[in-house]
Amino acid sequence: MASDYTGRRALVTGITGQDGSFLAEQLLEKGYEVFGLVRRLSTPNTQNIHHLLGRVQLVDGDLLDQASLENAIRQVEPDEIYNLAAQSFVGASFSQPVVTGEVTGLGALRLLDAMRHRADKARFYQASSSEMFGKVRKSPQDESTEFYPRSPYGVAKVYAYWACVNYRESYGLFISNGILFNHESERRGMEFVTRKIAHGVASIKLGLTDHISLGTLDPRRDWGYAPEYTDLMWRALQIPSPEDFVGATGETHSVRDFVEAAFRHVGIPEWTQRVRLDPKFARPADVDHLCGNPQKARERLGWVARTRFDQLVGIMVDADLRRLSRTG
Ligand code: NAP
Repeated sequence: MASDYTGRRALVTGITGQDGSFLAEQLLEKGYEVFGLVRRLSTPNTQNIHHLLGRVQLVDGDLLDQASLENAIRQVEPDEIYNLAAQSFVGASFSQPVVTGEVTGLGALRLLDAMRHRADKARFYQASSSEMFGKVRKSPQDESTEFYPRSPYGVAKVYAYWACVNYRESYGLFISNGILFNHESERRGMEFVTRKIAHGVASIKLGLTDHISLGTLDPRRDWGYAPEYTDLMWRALQIPSPEDFVGATGETHSVRDFVEAAFRHVGIPEWTQRVRLDPKFARPADVDHLCGNPQKARERLGWVARTRFDQLVGIMVDADLRRLSRTG
């Protein structure tokens, strides 16, 4: 599907995050001019895009601020807009539900509205989430599965999803939702369970700590490798008309499986004494079991998640082993 996209302009919100950084790399490789929306922080947070600074152009803006989004779109004149910015951590959405609603839900609407007024020929990708399925109504979940979110994050994503559908239908805009299941990488934020495990197991292997604390081992997720999922985002905007797509591996594994695979990877088969369950990390409501059906993305976009579960765990643990060996 790749060819030369030189001269095309993409605006990526959330460029400093896991997905934004992979997507920016891929767009640059295709020849896009890439603009990343970054909000003002007291300490800049550009470690994920450090290697891209100078190749991507950073634009000041915040999903909480309508004027900044209008300005960004006027300045960039994008052909494609990828809305990846969010308060994206489910756990924090329980302690900060209003901020989550403002950024993750209303923030998408603000950006849609800015696009409607300033760039109505652009194509828009919304980072929707499997957390919208929550207390699942059927399994595996696909594009027609009813939503039943179980966290303020999931609720906000459902709002953003429907805002996208509504703007698409009301104003004839090119807007697509990618309903992506969990995707992880060596760039995953430290509070997410997969990274916590990878980092914890690497620390144990290097003798820097003797245990990891987790909330629960039971939830099951459909885990894939992030750069493959950012490729889906791009593919979703290259087809003739806008549609919504599930991105998933179609396989499910428990947190326990992840822990086991990580310890196995570093040659520590007996791990039960090294994991402590701490109710502090448990959530008021959780999602037990997510498993996606990626058939539509395979058929319409030619997209397949290729990295297997054990490989993903290995990539993450190895990256943390390297990082910790460097820094001690
Ligand atoms: P992430 O690493 O947490 O990145 C989130 C990004 O949003 C960061 O760049 C962050 O900027 C930015 N952001 C937060 N609040 C903002 C605001 N008010 N204005 C502008 N930018 C703001 O998330 P990710 O894993 O890359 O995920 C990308 C998107 O996909 C998110 O919307 C997430 O909810 C969604 N999603 C992720 C998964 C997954 O498994 N990874 C699955 C489904 C959907 P700072 O650096 O300034 O904090």
